[in-house]
Amino acid sequence: MDTLCAAEFYLGRSERMASYTDGRRIFVTRGLVDAIEREGQPEWVSVVLAHELSHVLLGHRQQLAMASRGNGPLAAITRPSARIRATEIEADRLSVWLLAAADIRPQQAIAFWQWYGPRYGHIGGEGRTHPPYLQRIQEISAQIDCVNASGAAGNATSGSGCG
Ligand SMILES: [Zn+2]
Repeated sequence: MDTLCAAEFYLGRSERMASYTDGRRIFVTRGLVDAIEREGQPEWVSVVLAHELSHVLLGHRQQLAMASRGNGPLAAITRPSARIRATEIEADRLSVWLLAAADIRPQQAIAFWQWYGPRYGHIGGEGRTHPPYLQRIQEISAQIDCVNASGAAGNATSGSGCG
């Protein structure tokens, strides 16, 4: 891998609450950052960025495009909404390792979803493409257990073998 972080970060002007990536650029809206600031939890911006960066690092955009042409690792999952959900969970899992590696308590990801989930449901997706927030919290906690068990929060790559 020549470039580890191939992402560019953008702060959008929209009052909507959203974050998304096109596979290279990561967008977070002013509306989402403002709401997080009002909660007095600036680390939650890192939670959102770690999630989107995980999509970029895992090549999800490209994988979803391949799957829609009938090949690639996600092609076996036939429903497009289920494919997107699978990438959401994967990104949530990797984000825990990125947060830990950046010295941000990954429990912040749980705190973020406990705040965001009941109020807004999901970020950036429509309808049933995104997992329910309670499932995300469950997956994130399981991954935090993995990080703690590994005792090597600095090594994000070891996350791939874990739950
Ligand atoms: Zn996502």
